[in-house]
Amino acid sequence: MDTSFVWDDGFVTGLDVVDVQHRALVDLFNELSHALFSPSSGGEALLADVYGRLLAYTAYHFREEEELMGRCGLDARHIEGHRLLHQQFEEQVRMLWMQRASMADAGTTLVDFLTSWLGLHILGIDQSMARQIASVQAGLSAAEAFEREREAHDNGIQALLKMISKLYSALSVQNAQLAAANQHLEERVAQRTHELEEANERLRTLSRTDALLGIANRAHFNEWLEQTCALARRARRPVGLVMIDVDCFKRYNDHYGHQQGDACLQAVARAVAGCVRRGTDLVARYGGEELAVVLPETDAAGAQAMAGRMVQAVRALGMPHADSLAGPSVSISAGVCSQVPLPAAGGASGSAALIARADAALYEAKHQGRNRCVAAEAVGAVL
Ligand code: GH3
Ligand code: MG
Ligand code: MG
Repeated sequence: MDTSFVWDDGFVTGLDVVDVQHRALVDLFNELSHALFSPSSGGEALLADVYGRLLAYTAYHFREEEELMGRCGLDARHIEGHRLLHQQFEEQVRMLWMQRASMADAGTTLVDFLTSWLGLHILGIDQSMARQIASVQAGLSAAEAFEREREAHDNGIQALLKMISKLYSALSVQNAQLAAANQHLEERVAQRTHELEEANERLRTLSRTDALLGIANRAHFNEWLEQTCALARRARRPVGLVMIDVDCFKRYNDHYGHQQGDACLQAVARAVAGCVRRGTDLVARYGGEELAVVLPETDAAGAQAMAGRMVQAVRALGMPHADSLAGPSVSISAGVCSQVPLPAAGGASGSAALIARADAALYEAKHQGRNRCVAAEAVGAVL
């Protein structure tokens, strides 16, 4: 494909500085065009280089031209219109650059646009500028020189240039609208992505939460305890574990109905959760009416104190349980232990041994009459 810009004598304005710069621009376009379409083209890096050089040189050239018009004292209407075209060009090039990712052939589009624009610009407004400068230098006032240009519209080329300029303006508007639509689309995609991430986060939370009690579920408990034990084992720090079981809950369901049983479980879970203070403590539903509480960095005395508080907190709810064998109101039994998890004590992280010891203590609490907390290997600790 031949995208080279062929210099025509019709481009000569007679203004030496301007002509030299126009030729330099044409050379630059051709150099870029060759580089872009040569087989060893450097892709995106080369395109970025093209863009940078172009923008820098056109900015320099436009500034020079605008200063020249000012120095020669041209009519403000011409200077303003001319400056506006320069500005539009810079905006157009920027827009093309931003949209290049969505273009089928960004290199061709960019070079085509640059060469067509420069040709039209030189033949049209730059020639008009040159004629006005010549008129002013020949003694006409700036306004007279400007008016004379207006009267010259009978020339076929002038009419053609005007129409092309209109076409160009229409295309510019369309391009701007396309860019805005693209931007809007990108914003919507970004918003949808954000919503999706939030939904995913909600799903993650849901997958870790027990639907009835609103606390961690068994899967999350397992994962949390494993992690906690692995860390504690390395740091040789103790982990406390409390296993909790609601007393005579079958009788409660039988007496008050399953729905009230659900509400009772929820109140118990809230009371137990209300006892933990640290962000790393985890209250989970272990099974039906059983809860488990992981207490990282907690020694035996600390874990026992926590378990005692939990038993007390449920008792303090004062929820009547007319058919309980453990007292007049709903109560829990708790088994508690604390140890530095050691792999030798069972399981890869030592978590299994911790569960087994807390479970045995819970069994002991039930055996001793319920509504109490028993520490592992410390039989009979009624709190
Ligand atoms: P113990 O004091 O020895 O623990 O006696 P218990 O009756 O609490 O123990 P058991 O294991 O015999 O009964 C547990 C009951 O908990 C049976 C089951 O229907 C009830 N349960 C388990 N999950 C739920 C639940 O989500 N909602 C309700 N309402 N009841 C549940
Ligand atoms: Mg049970
Ligand atoms: Mg029970």
